[in-house]
Amino acid sequence: MNKEDMIRTYSQDLSGGLENVPVLIENSVPKEAFSNFQYVLESVQGPGCDIDPSAVTLPGCSCRVQSCLPDSCHCLRFGQTYDSKGRLNQQQEDDGFSRPVFECNALCACSESCQNRVVQKWVEVRLGVFSTKDRGLGVEALERLPCGRFVSWLHCL
Ligand SMILES: [Zn+2]
Ligand SMILES: [Zn+2]
Repeated sequence: MNKEDMIRTYSQDLSGGLENVPVLIENSVPKEAFSNFQYVLESVQGPGCDIDPSAVTLPGCSCRVQSCLPDSCHCLRFGQTYDSKGRLNQQQEDDGFSRPVFECNALCACSESCQNRVVQKWVEVRLGVFSTKDRGLGVEALERLPCGRFVSWLHCL
């Protein structure tokens, strides 16, 4: 990254106030870049898709607690997914791959503040959308991120 790339100014909120924090657009991005764009918080069915993306396909746990614990929760059968600050635990199996993540979902009996609910809370990191020289638009974090912190989902049709 050269020095010119570091000097960006952002203003308008791409999410239109839908996110917990604004997703800012760099001032030099032309308005036409978002003329056929809709910011949504939920996954939506794309053309030709027969599966309802809002359907929960994983079973829920029966933990009637504030926050689930690995010893008693089948959602955490591969261990504690996140630390107390919501950062992904970086433990790997012996084969070098990361463990799968099964977050608690709408069918789980635990509270909404369960430590095993991170990705579903949407954007909590300040993000900026900017123009690149030859690759269209890019997204960058506008704050320093600790290792393992969830940033955002991004789906494009
Ligand atoms: Zn549980
Ligand atoms: Zn659960």
